Parts: sequence; structure tokens; C-alpha cells
Amino acid sequence: MDNIIDRINAVFAPPPTDDVSEDPVYEAKVLGKSIFLTEETWRSWTGRRWVNGAEYHGPVFLMGTKTLYTGARACDCKVCQADVAPRHRKN
Ligand SMILES: [Zn+2]
Repeated sequence: MDNIIDRINAVFAPPPTDDVSEDPVYEAKVLGKSIFLTEETWRSWTGRRWVNGAEYHGPVFLMGTKTLYTGARACDCKVCQADVAPRHRKN
């Protein structure tokens, strides 16, 4: 990547518009504000995340790989915590 703009574009997606699109909207919240992510960033996001407005619970992968992430996760539901290594689980 050449410059900071390219790097930002690789992490953040443009905000969705009202136009009907078949592309999924990948969202996370930082300090209560929505941010929109590319699919690659979203699948590695360890905080709570949404796709097309619905909260998603499932595996997180190391950036750009198919390797399962087993570190700490923000969501404490059973599905999200199932992949977390025992030493990183919430009590
Ligand atoms: Zn969850």
C-alpha cells in the first residue's frame, strides 16, 4: 500500500446509502458510534459486530487468513466464547 488513504480504504468501507445494494453492510461500533468496515477487517473484528443491521455472533479470523482467532472477545455469548482459549475466557 502506497499511502495513508489506501490504508484507510483497506480497513473502512464507505457509509451505506439508501440505494438498494446486494453488497452486505459490515458494521461495528466504537465508543457508541457506527463504523463501516470492509469484509476483511470485519471478519477479524473482536468487538461486537453487525451485518446488514443484525448483530452477528460467530468466529473471528486472523487478518487475511483462515486461522481462527482464540483471544479475548467483547461479546460474552456462548457462540462467540466457544472459540476463545480457556485462559482468555470471561469469568
Ligand atoms: Zn456473541
